[in-house]
Amino acid sequence: MNLSSSGNQFLAQRVKINPMAKDPIYLDNQATTPLAPEVFDVMVPWLRDNFGNPHSAHILGRKAAAAVEVARDQVAALLPDSGKILFTGSATEAINLGFGAVHALQAAGRNKIIILESEHAAVRDTALSYEKHGFLVEKHPIGPDGIVSLEQLSASIDDKTALVAAMLVNNEIGVIQPIEAIADLAHANGALILCDVVQGYGRVDIPDNIDMAAISGHKIYGPKAIGALWVRDGITLPPMIHGGGQEQGIRSGTLSPALCAGFGHAAMLCQERRDSDAAHIQLLADKAQSCFADWTINGCIDHRYMGNLNIRQDGVDVARLMSDVRNVAFSAGSACASGSGRPSHVLAALGLEPAQIKSSIRLGFGRYNSLEDVELASQYINEAVGVQFA
Ligand code: PLP
Repeated sequence: MNLSSSGNQFLAQRVKINPMAKDPIYLDNQATTPLAPEVFDVMVPWLRDNFGNPHSAHILGRKAAAAVEVARDQVAALLPDSGKILFTGSATEAINLGFGAVHALQAAGRNKIIILESEHAAVRDTALSYEKHGFLVEKHPIGPDGIVSLEQLSASIDDKTALVAAMLVNNEIGVIQPIEAIADLAHANGALILCDVVQGYGRVDIPDNIDMAAISGHKIYGPKAIGALWVRDGITLPPMIHGGGQEQGIRSGTLSPALCAGFGHAAMLCQERRDSDAAHIQLLADKAQSCFADWTINGCIDHRYMGNLNIRQDGVDVARLMSDVRNVAFSAGSACASGSGRPSHVLAALGLEPAQIKSSIRLGFGRYNSLEDVELASQYINEAVGVQFA
């Protein structure tokens, strides 16, 4: 991370991710992102000074409630108009909440849920949990490039389909799905579309025609333990957490003004810095692609978020690589990013052989990485691979 050249001594001190120090170079920005220093500053007064409950009627409560509503608008600003934001504890919770929409559709005779084979476990396992409620769950295949065929998907979506869940940017391989066209197919058959935009929010355009979107604070340089579901007006969701009636009676529980304010500010920064962040990520990605020219990229090369690079090299023992290269924080491509330890269903869905999956790594670049991070990390990784092949 180029912390000193950005003049950000505060972040340098706090995050202490410096290739020259004992801490690793952080190249795992799909797993989580460091907290932006501006976000930290915005959160502190809500943690230290302003302790009011945003649901209280007195002045302290109203002040906290106002901060929550500012944050709600900041988060909503990057999503389509004509919908509302429901704050949750994570994107996983938001996805679980959004799936609740299928109950009303089941009552109207729709009992099929379609997800893409490459969905995150938060979508996949939630969808599968609906089998016990009488739904048929189809895991729709993706192509060898990681992208769904619209022709095949169109043949699957029918008038029994309640919900199609498709992600914008894949967390493991970075490919971008044609969400606008998928949403059109769902709507043509009277189904809803839930889009997991966690890895694209603030970086990639979000189509206007989706019905629900799940997002997460800690993927956009915001705090952990906050997410949100954006829901188009007119969609009915059953309450998921019962209690004090917060979040329109759908998700009860006292909101944290600090987390909301941090999430909102992080969203605003993503909006303000979108072009400069994108240019920076492109520089890092170009550098990485040249440093790892001997490796093969997993997934489509053209339709991808450039901050993700999932690559493989035949014969590399990634388990050994990860234990040898302790000074770079990166992920094994074979391990599901949810940390469950399950082998990657995404790489398998591309049609990769088990040995190819086991020789894959995922590098994730972010706003606070420097070119030097990428150069050094590639040097460490490639040297360790060289030792394996010696
Ligand atoms: N969806 C995607 C694509 C993700 O990458 C993640 C996090 O890894 C999630 C959902 C879950 O997000 P959260 O950690 O906020 O529950």
